[in-house]
Amino acid sequence: SNKVAGLGLNKKTSEKTEDDPDAANPAEASLLMKIIRQGLVESKLDIEIQRKDPNSPLYSVKTFEALHLKPNLLKGVYALGFNAPSKIQETALPTLLADPPQNMIAQSQSGTGKTAAFVLAMLSRVDPAKNYPQVLCLSPTYELAIQTGEVAAKMAKFCPEIKLKYAVRGEEVKKGSKITDHILIGTPGKMLDWGVKFNMFDLQKIKVFVLDEADVMIDRQGHQDQCIRIHKCLPPTCQMMFFSATYDSAVMEFAEIIVPNPIIIRLLREEESLDNIKQYYVKCKSADDKYRAICNIYGVITIGQAIIFCHTRKTASWLSEKMSRDGHSVAVLSGELTVEQRIAVLDRFRGGLEKVLITTNVLSRGIDVEQVTLVVNFDMPMDLDKKADCETYLHRIGRTGRFGKAGIAINLIDSPQAMNICLDIEAHFGKKIHLLDIEDAEEIE
Ligand code: ADP
Repeated sequence: SNKVAGLGLNKKTSEKTEDDPDAANPAEASLLMKIIRQGLVESKLDIEIQRKDPNSPLYSVKTFEALHLKPNLLKGVYALGFNAPSKIQETALPTLLADPPQNMIAQSQSGTGKTAAFVLAMLSRVDPAKNYPQVLCLSPTYELAIQTGEVAAKMAKFCPEIKLKYAVRGEEVKKGSKITDHILIGTPGKMLDWGVKFNMFDLQKIKVFVLDEADVMIDRQGHQDQCIRIHKCLPPTCQMMFFSATYDSAVMEFAEIIVPNPIIIRLLREEESLDNIKQYYVKCKSADDKYRAICNIYGVITIGQAIIFCHTRKTASWLSEKMSRDGHSVAVLSGELTVEQRIAVLDRFRGGLEKVLITTNVLSRGIDVEQVTLVVNFDMPMDLDKKADCETYLHRIGRTGRFGKAGIAINLIDSPQAMNICLDIEAHFGKKIHLLDIEDAEEIE
């Protein structure tokens, strides 16, 4: 249902009724993260490595030179502005480039350098003298495949002999002809068509198989089965690489099907915490009452920026209209915006052009804006059973070590149900949520 034409990303990406909770779409969220994130996220946490034979040496490199890449490939890496391998790359790259090839499962949050790592491995395994596909890379969506392809094209800037083709909707190969490109990057459906249905290349000749964004892949109907069908046609000698931002049991089971005898590398994510956050709740009688509460709070807190979370698009746009009418400069980020529009909204907000961002749950993770000092839950986060969604609460309110500044969180409570959610959240985290008398908001620190 997510048909986005061309790279323009200019179509509505989902159709929902107005009153639906505006939930995050993992593929879109991942793409947005990739586009808006500039530079590398380096975690302070250690890497965890699992392998069959703990005695076999495991190499790690501190420089790209130590990988003994082809000189033109190394030039490409430097041209991208990479000076040294990221934490995940230090450990993953020697294994990905080893002879004989080794299989790998790697999990780390987005922005830690996974794509750059497997793209480098893909490029260095290609034999450009052989004019047939040798490397397959599967991505869950058109847009994510294009993103990966663009990284590959940049890295291969000085290796024009390496040919890359997208296996995505809109790309066609003449019936009966054979594909001569070395690397295919695409979505499972198209790859299955070209490789299995129309025999346009020989899956038995594939040396490297990359499955990227496995968690998003699982989330999309039918994609996992298609991946498995492609995987079944690959030779046993093919090197398997499996990447995911998260690692739950569904991802693990999928990984086990795809990757025999893997080395498993995991970079634990920097946990968000509520340690630096002062949490309050305000009793309100109605939505209008909530609005008054926000205005009172807004009058008191003048430093920094604020994010207000609403449950539905309808509430978000109602609130933004009201606030704008009263002369506040507000930005709105919700599900009906295209990826491009969302980037524009976030860029403006990060640039300080608006002081308040009103949003729904379209971003599953907190928005990394350092100067945000106040987060307001206009509606309490709840799951589909209308129970407290503690994980979402933490993502909205919590800060990681990187953005460790103190902050204030205010929950607007207008029903017994909302109060229960608030109490459940308080109990879950074991951190007091203080009652705030809004007529006396001066007590906010
Ligand atoms: P992931 O696939 O884990 O989301 P990426 O490979 O896309 O991460 O890398 C995230 C960002 O960091 C990208 O902008 C990429 O260009 C940059 N990057 C990756 N590796 C390095 C490196 N070794 N040095 C500097 N920047 C890097």
